[in-house]
Amino acid sequence: MRSERLSASTKRQVMNKTMFRLHVPRIRHARIRSLATLAAQNPSPHIRDHTFHIPIVDFSAFNDPGASAMQKKSTAKDIVCAFKEVGFVYLKGHGISPEIIQNAFKKSDAFFALPLSTKSVLAWDDPRSNRGYVAAGRERVTQITDPQQIAALRVKAPDVKESMEIGRDWDPVYNNKWPLDSDVPGFKDFMKSFFQTCHELHVTVLNSVALGLGLEERFFDPYINEQYHNLRLLSYPPVKTSILKQQGQARAGAHSDYGTLTFVFQDMVGGLEVQKPNTNEFYPATPIKDTIVVNVGDLLARWSNDTLRSTLHRVVAPRTKVGDEEYTPKRQSIAFFCNPNGSANITCLPTCNPDKAKYPPITTEQYIVKRLSETYD
Ligand code: CA
Repeated sequence: MRSERLSASTKRQVMNKTMFRLHVPRIRHARIRSLATLAAQNPSPHIRDHTFHIPIVDFSAFNDPGASAMQKKSTAKDIVCAFKEVGFVYLKGHGISPEIIQNAFKKSDAFFALPLSTKSVLAWDDPRSNRGYVAAGRERVTQITDPQQIAALRVKAPDVKESMEIGRDWDPVYNNKWPLDSDVPGFKDFMKSFFQTCHELHVTVLNSVALGLGLEERFFDPYINEQYHNLRLLSYPPVKTSILKQQGQARAGAHSDYGTLTFVFQDMVGGLEVQKPNTNEFYPATPIKDTIVVNVGDLLARWSNDTLRSTLHRVVAPRTKVGDEEYTPKRQSIAFFCNPNGSANITCLPTCNPDKAKYPPITTEQYIVKRLSETYD
């Protein structure tokens, strides 16, 4: 019995690893459905380890021109230590003001509140561009507040989740799909500036990673200046919990991210869970006010010869009660997926045991293509 359970969970781990690496929306959504079936057979594990936690690191030394080299070094050590052990950190003192983050959520909310017909004009249609609006599920329920109406709609479409994907706006080939300014006033200008703000934070956090790994502070700069990133706004409408259970639906199946770092801005609803390394146990990354959840992606792990960890994570449905019915509330999140330049050559870092490099050199673009073809097989 015990060995059966173990082999099922090992199997799930292997499937998770091979199937959920990529952040290409259509592929992910298709694959997540098959994970949902697995999730139904493997109910959420109980919390067993009270010592497991995601470290909170105060990053203010990197935003303070007056900070001493020693203060920066000590922060850098904390960041690298968290990335080695957990692959995740709560970043506080990150320098992005609460007003900017609130505004990002407000603008995102205003966008998703648009009629489907308006958003559909901006539909995501090309994985190479990876820009535009993605609706998973066909029914629109976000504007409805009556729980009974929601429940009725959820029966038809239990897996509704929407996202809006934004890339660098100055890309020579691919254009962002912006809503009209009259539909969401200030959306485009704000998101362009938010993209730039997140890019700058990426540079600073990687400066700290470089220091923490014993490299020159600006080591990564020439590899990450082309803003090959993806800003994803996400909206999960409220849903009756019994339907999620019935369908075995997870809100986002277990996966790792493929780039350097991911920044996750969560609302207070929560739902993000992180796998404890070397186990099949997931633990909630409970939202902490004024922090950004930052995790290592596959390419940074590979660059560091697996010194830093790219950890599996997922989004599950937290619960709340409306009358006698249990509901999973609306959830909003914003993720910024950071990447090296497309042509950056990812070769084992000089301080990460290059003599015993586990992976051959690869460019970001080659890596992404390889991942895509693996996912399609
Ligand atoms: Ca992720």
